[in-house]
Amino acid sequence: MDEGLREEIGQVAFVDHHVHAPYKRAHEIPPEEFRRPFTEASIPAVWTENIPTLIGYQWMIRELARVLHCAPTESAVLAARNGMAMRPYHRLLADAANLGACYDDDLFGFGQCYPIDIWAEIIERPVERVLRVETFVEQGYAACETLDDALERLTREITAPARRLVSLKSIAGYRTGLAFDPPSTTQRQAAANAYRQLRDSALGTSPGRIADKALVDTIVWTALEAAAPQALPMQFHVAFGDDDIIMTKNDPTLMRALFSHEPFRAVPLVLLHCYPFHRQAGYLASIYPNVYADLGLTIPIIGPGAATALAELLELCPTRQLLASTDGHMEPEFQWFAIHVWRWALARVLGQYIAWDILDTDTALATARAILHDNALRVYQTGN
Ligand SMILES: [Zn+2]
Repeated sequence: MDEGLREEIGQVAFVDHHVHAPYKRAHEIPPEEFRRPFTEASIPAVWTENIPTLIGYQWMIRELARVLHCAPTESAVLAARNGMAMRPYHRLLADAANLGACYDDDLFGFGQCYPIDIWAEIIERPVERVLRVETFVEQGYAACETLDDALERLTREITAPARRLVSLKSIAGYRTGLAFDPPSTTQRQAAANAYRQLRDSALGTSPGRIADKALVDTIVWTALEAAAPQALPMQFHVAFGDDDIIMTKNDPTLMRALFSHEPFRAVPLVLLHCYPFHRQAGYLASIYPNVYADLGLTIPIIGPGAATALAELLELCPTRQLLASTDGHMEPEFQWFAIHVWRWALARVLGQYIAWDILDTDTALATARAILHDNALRVYQTGN
C-alpha cells in the first residue's frame, strides 16, 4: 500500500451523496442492533448468529477499536461507544472519516430517523434532501383521491419543493424491478385502478405499500419528466439489498426504456449499490453519458472485496461517472466505516495503477478527488 497516496486520499472530504440519517433512539444499543446495518435480512438468526463471522464486520470492529482506543473485540468496542454521549460520538466518527456534506434520503424509516436539520446540527455538516418518490406518493393518500391528483402532487414537489431537493430516489428495484415500461393507455388505466385500490385499503388499516408494476412505472416516468427540465438527478436502488428483492429483475441493463428516451438524457441517472451487477453498471456508464455508478452499501459489507469490485467497475466506467456514497443507516458506524473502506479501496486500486506505470500520481489523486468529492458537486449542482 502506498502510504503517501493513502494519506492524500484521506485529505479529500467525502461527499456522501446517498445516506440516511441515523435512528433517533437511545444511544446505548445491544450487539444485535449494532450488527444490523450489515444485513438487510429479516430473519433474526442472521444478525444474532452469523454477522459476527462476516469478514467486513470483523474488519469494522478492528478499525473502530483504533478510533476508540480499546481492545479489538465486539464487546470492548460496544462498551466504549455505548459509554460515550451521543453527540460527541457522532461527531468523533464524522471527523475521523473527514465527512463532507450528506444527501439524506429521509423517507427511509420515516419518523424513526433524525430529521435533516437535527442531524446536520449533530454532525456539524450540511445535510441536503433526496426525495424517495414511491414513499412520497404513499404518504399522500389522504390528500389525493385519484392517481392524477397523486401525480400532480409529486410533480409539484419536484418542480417547486417545500424544501430544496438535490435528487430524486426510486426504490422500484425493491418493489417491481428495473424493467420499466414506457407509458401507454393500458398502463395508465392499470395504474389508476391499482392506486384506487391501494388508497382504499391505506385509508383503512393496510399500509398501502405500492408494489404494482404499472403504478411504480408511472410514478417513475412522471418523476423523470418533472426532473428533466432542471436536470435534477434520480437515484435508483440497483440489485443487492433487502431479502424480498428478485435479483434477476434488478440488473440495471433492464432500464433501457429510461436510457433510450431522449428527454431523460438531461437527467443524471445514478445507479446505487449495483453489486453483483457493478460490471453491468460500468458498461451502461460507458455508453450513456448521463449514467452514474456507485458502490454504496456494497462497500463496506463486502469488506476486502471492495478493492476487487472497484477495479471491476473501473474497467468500463469513466471516472467522472463514478460516485461514492455509504448508504449509512440506523447507526453512525456504518457510514464512518464505509468511508474508511472507500478510501482504502481507492488507495489500493489507484496505487496499483501507479505501481504498474498505468497512471502517474497526480492523475491518480485527481481521480480519487473526483470520485470522493468533485463528481457529486457537479452532478447534483450543490456547491457543497
Ligand atoms: Zn439507501
